[in-house]
Amino acid sequence: MVKRKVLTVSTRKRVDVLDITESARLFVEEIGAEAGLLNVFVPHTTAGVILNEAEAGLLEDLKELLERLVPELHPYAHNKIDNNAHAHLRTILLGSSVVIPVEAGRLSLGTWQRILLIESDGPRSRHVILTYVGL
Ligand code: ZN
Repeated sequence: MVKRKVLTVSTRKRVDVLDITESARLFVEEIGAEAGLLNVFVPHTTAGVILNEAEAGLLEDLKELLERLVPELHPYAHNKIDNNAHAHLRTILLGSSVVIPVEAGRLSLGTWQRILLIESDGPRSRHVILTYVGL
């Protein structure tokens, strides 16, 4: 079967991290998934999605890393027409989707793995497309 659900979430800050693991877990449960793959896709150019630990200190470290790799203040070409080049570039590094195996009706995430939406140009409303393919 193929099942799809679009989540709408609100980010609260310019740079923000939302843990969307529970919504994904509920979706897999709702549709009665047994074994297959869940794709979590963020259809935006300045917000992305990753898998990692949601520990507060680590999330601060991630924000600091992104600022170091792609500083907000820099003479980017895109900023001639917009003022969020850093947000696009950070999202390119993070990626726009993750795939998680589903086994015995459960997401096969590791003990500390969470599904994290990374906002780089908030606060705003964002969509997350969940697509399950499997039995
Ligand atoms: Zn832009």
